[in-house]
Amino acid sequence: MMTLYLAVPCYNEEAVLQDTTIKLLKKYKQLITEKKISDESRIVYIDDGSKDKTWEIISALHEANPYILGLKMSRNRGHQNTLYGGLMTLKDHADAVISIDADLQDDINAIDEMVDKYYQGCDIVYGVRKQRTTDTFFKRFTAESFYKILEAMGGEVIYNHADFRLMSKRALDAFAEFKEVNLFLRGMVPMVGFKSDTVEYERLERTAGESKYPLTKMLALAWQGITSLSIKPIRMIMWLGIIIFLLALIFGIYTLITFFCGATVSGWASIFISVWALGGLQLFAIGVIGEYLGKVYLETKHRPRYIVDKFLQ
Ligand code: UDP
Ligand code: MG
Repeated sequence: MMTLYLAVPCYNEEAVLQDTTIKLLKKYKQLITEKKISDESRIVYIDDGSKDKTWEIISALHEANPYILGLKMSRNRGHQNTLYGGLMTLKDHADAVISIDADLQDDINAIDEMVDKYYQGCDIVYGVRKQRTTDTFFKRFTAESFYKILEAMGGEVIYNHADFRLMSKRALDAFAEFKEVNLFLRGMVPMVGFKSDTVEYERLERTAGESKYPLTKMLALAWQGITSLSIKPIRMIMWLGIIIFLLALIFGIYTLITFFCGATVSGWASIFISVWALGGLQLFAIGVIGEYLGKVYLETKHRPRYIVDKFLQ
């Protein structure tokens, strides 16, 4: 029988923790009585430096229930770093770890099937959303565009998969070999390989509390995803430069011909437009290169990706 750990990142989640705990414990009891997971299996809440009562609630839940553990990060570092820290801390305690958001928007009934696939020999099982009917139009539109852009940019991601997945200890050990500090987990995990599968589920609405992913954070994650996974934007800019240079050449020849044919030069507008267009393009190009340079800078620093404050176990 396998020991399953659940890694649940929590940032200011005091509104959902009680309810989440009731549902997760029920699921665990069921899986344990069905002899699908061992009695050593645990649910681990990972506090990402919350400013509300999240850690107090986690500590109290841990006191009251042997199945619940708490991991406290030293400060707020964001969802990706927190989850990574959790996975790396828990991999030595379990046969497999499933990551899931604290609001349980991802259907916990998919866990059964993930465990079944683990027994069938899968090292990674991706939870994939069937449809996004419960998301607002805006969230659905932005999220789907994000996957499409990422794919076009050469990132290998599983469509409609966020961070609800099972990873075996073997997969996590392999994942620990990825040393980058710019984390975009759902793009990195597929690089691990091994036998993998997907499980479909319906995404539910957040029961309480607010989304901790406002538009600014979503855009930041999308940008992180694109620039951490591919160098295509830099290449595209190079090609843009070449094309514009060729166009300028053709245009130059054309103006020379018209000049020798005696046509008068009148065209402040066209000069102004091209100066501004090229100026903007150059700034944009420098910006993209700067972004990658910044990433290289961060990677060379080898800063820790997470720091654990406390582990209640
Ligand atoms: N989260 C975190 N650190 C942060 C922001 C979010 O650990 O800085 C956690 C949050 O507690 C939740 C998960 O990341 O468990 C996903 O956040 P949320 O459900 O708010 O995002 P959404 O479902 O709206 O995309
Ligand atoms: Mg959510």
